[in-house]
Order: sequence, then C-alpha cells, then structure tokens
Amino acid sequence: MAIEAKPNRRAWFESLEDSSERYDLDEVVYTDSKGGLLQVVHDMDELKKTSGEEWKEHFQGRARRNEWPYGSGVWGKKEWVLPDIDNENVVSMYEGHTNLFWAERYGREIGIEDLWLKLCGNSHTGSFKDLGMTVLVSQVKQMIANGADIPAVACASTGDTSAALSAYAAAAGIPAIVFLPRGKISLAQLIQPVANGAIVFALDTDFDGCMDIVKKVSAEDGVYLANSMNSLRIEGQKTVGLEVIQQLDWKVPDWIVIPGGNLGNVSALAKGLDMLFELGLIDKRPRICVGQAEAANPLYLAYQTEFEVFEPIAARTTVASAIQIGNPVSYKKAVDALKRYDGVVEQASEAEIMEECAKADRTGLFNCPHTGVALVALRKLQARGLVKSGDQVVVISTAHGLKFVDSKLAYHSMKLDNIVSEHPNPPIELAADYQAVRDQMLREIDARSSN
Ligand SMILES: *Cc1c(COP(=O)(O)O)cnc(C)c1O
Repeated sequence: MAIEAKPNRRAWFESLEDSSERYDLDEVVYTDSKGGLLQVVHDMDELKKTSGEEWKEHFQGRARRNEWPYGSGVWGKKEWVLPDIDNENVVSMYEGHTNLFWAERYGREIGIEDLWLKLCGNSHTGSFKDLGMTVLVSQVKQMIANGADIPAVACASTGDTSAALSAYAAAAGIPAIVFLPRGKISLAQLIQPVANGAIVFALDTDFDGCMDIVKKVSAEDGVYLANSMNSLRIEGQKTVGLEVIQQLDWKVPDWIVIPGGNLGNVSALAKGLDMLFELGLIDKRPRICVGQAEAANPLYLAYQTEFEVFEPIAARTTVASAIQIGNPVSYKKAVDALKRYDGVVEQASEAEIMEECAKADRTGLFNCPHTGVALVALRKLQARGLVKSGDQVVVISTAHGLKFVDSKLAYHSMKLDNIVSEHPNPPIELAADYQAVRDQMLREIDARSSN
C-alpha cells in the first residue's frame, strides 16, 4: 500500500511504473512496492505559474551571491530541486557553478571549434557527486530535525560517492559509514572519507559485496542509504544540465556527451533538460551521447540491439574505475532519457582513453579517465559523421584529474599494462650541469615547436 504524500507538498517520490504510488520525501523509502526505482516528481502546475523568462531572471539574480543558500548552483534552483526544505536544514558547500571551459585549442586540433567542457570536478570533493549529495544530506538533516530516528548515513563505494557523502555528513554533524572493498581502492580514494571522520569499513569483498552489506544495514538498522538508487541525488545532479544551458546564455547545444556507469548521471542530465523544456526556458532538445568503457559496457551492448536486449555483465578492470559497473541501477531511466534525446552510446578502449586524455591534457586540460571516455565517444561520433565541424558540443567532465593520477603517472612513465604510450612526457633526469641542461632544453623546445 502506497503512503500518500502529505498535502501541499510541491515534490514527492513516485514509482516509475505507477504514478499513483507516491511517498512523502520525509519517508525512508528507496524503491516502490515492486522493488523498482522511485523518482522525485514536482508539482509542475505550480512551477508553471512562473514564466520561463521569470525563471531565467530569478536564477541569474541568485548565482554566486551570498544569500544562504541560493549562491550554490544547486540551491539557486531550490524550487526545482527540493522546494519544501527549510533553508536552515540545507547542507551546502556552494557546489555547482563549475567552469564551462571553452576547449579552444583541443577543439581546433580535433576540428570542433565550438567545444566546451563542463568541469564538474572543480568542486569541494572533486567530482559531480557533490551536486547530488548536498540534496540527500540536506533532506536527512531535515528529517532528523523533525524527529526521525536516523543514526547515520551510509554508502558502498570505491571512490567519489564515499568522498562526497563523508564531507557533507561531516559538515552536517551526521555520522557517515562507508563500505569499501579492501585492497581494491587507491590511497586518494581512501583518504577523503578517512580525513572527514567517516566510519570506514574495508571489507574482504568487491563493490557488489559492499552493496549487499549496506542494503542490509539500511533495511535492518535504520541507517539511511545514500547510494544512487536513492533518487534524491538525481535532483541535485540534474542541475548540471540547467547550468550548462544557463552558461550558454540559455541556448541549446547540438550535443552533450557524458560518461556513464550506474547511469544516474545521464538520467539526471536529461531530467534537468526536461524541466527547462517543459517550463519554457528552452524550445529544443540537444542530442545526448553516453560514453562507456569497453571493459564495462552493458549499455553499449544494449544499444546495439536498440535496447531490445539488456544483459548485466561482469565489468572488467578499467582506468575509468568510477564507471566499472556491469549492472547499472539506473538502466531503465537512462534508456528512457536516451529515447527522448535521440541518444547514442559509444565505447572506449583503455588505450583510446589514455591517448585522448593525454592529447587533451597537452592543451591545458587535466582530465580524469571518465572524461577521457567521453572525449573518445565524441571522436567516434565525429568519425561516424554524427557530429559535424560546426556543431556546438558540451562534454561533461565528471571529476578532477587530480583524483585519478595513478593512470596518468603510469602513462607518462610508460608503465601501463598492454598499452604503449604515444605521447609520454616523463621528467628529464639530469645532473645539475648548466651546459647539459641547456642543450637538452633547446632540443626539447625545438621538438615542441615543430609539432
Ligand atoms: C559516479 C561517476 C561517474 C558515473 O556516473 P553514473 O551516474 O554512475 O553513471 C562518472 N565519472 C565519475 C568521476 C564518477 O564519480
């Protein structure tokens, strides 16, 4: 039996399958009665009382200002995100408003001059996960303030989700629990939750084993589940689409390219664009392309059958570790999104990822491997003639490259397994001798100016 949302709510949880099954956002509920995903649905009639032009002015006026909490890229759009939350319960680190970087030189090199990268990694914990976690942790803080008995928030993760959860929970003073597969994560991925004071469990299992444990403690012990099956996170993440359009002065690009693993983020991107369309801020839709690593490509394989057949796979190891997922939770939402946005799915091999990252880095970027997957996808769209030289393209860069230095280091020191680096740039080790340094320096300057 569905529990009705309280009256006068402007947003609620709703079953993807059955719009009559609704739950209040104050309920601790992650799936519908049949185990399917929920989505947050907004009272669109209420939002339509404000015109598209008025919304633009409203959002524009709040951006980066100091009035709590509206200066945040997420909370500047509060009415579209979590309208019924009290401002004093918002847990924000002024996430969002990340740079939309004009990739002038890289774009010229590959023959797409109107190419932009949305640098979501320029954020508090270094990835777009902050956009969703501010919403989830704020909602938890409000529920606790209203008397809910929630002892802690928890997630299974190998990286960015646990970093974001740990930081926002620490800022709110709510205990966070993180389940990580022991020995399968890098130091950089481990240290953020450790430093933020989360309860960090390193378990003798893989990601899926950690997921089983976190589902159990959330079902049995009242710990609040922060994994992406919790649809609150989508509400924050959808602002990436709103921001891109806002930063392009409310014009719609031809293409948006995004890497996908669990596929929450592409669903979120499309959800944000849907709202812009429905509320009259834009009058056309971009096309969307999802890039997957060849080692973890269940969506790509399903796309080859026009989404007739979907089979979970066992994901193999990839440098794009945050998208090493074989059975994406948000598959259905993502397929619906791709159908609305004339979507395409491409894949990238390990060598392609590393080479494209290296190439783009040499034009001043500093890409994480997931962004590299998206760049390879773009090159393939170009090769197929789907993206043309005059098109405007936005690539969603999902994390800061500094979180993923291991593969870059291996690339430039030519230590990647089975990959021959085409453009390595290792440090030159020399004795501190002026003449030797000068000779080498002139040779290097010469080599760089000739290509
Ligand atoms: C989580 C994550 C992704 C994948 O997002 P999904 O919603 O799982 O598709 C991509 N890149 C980075 C850096 C991430 O942290």
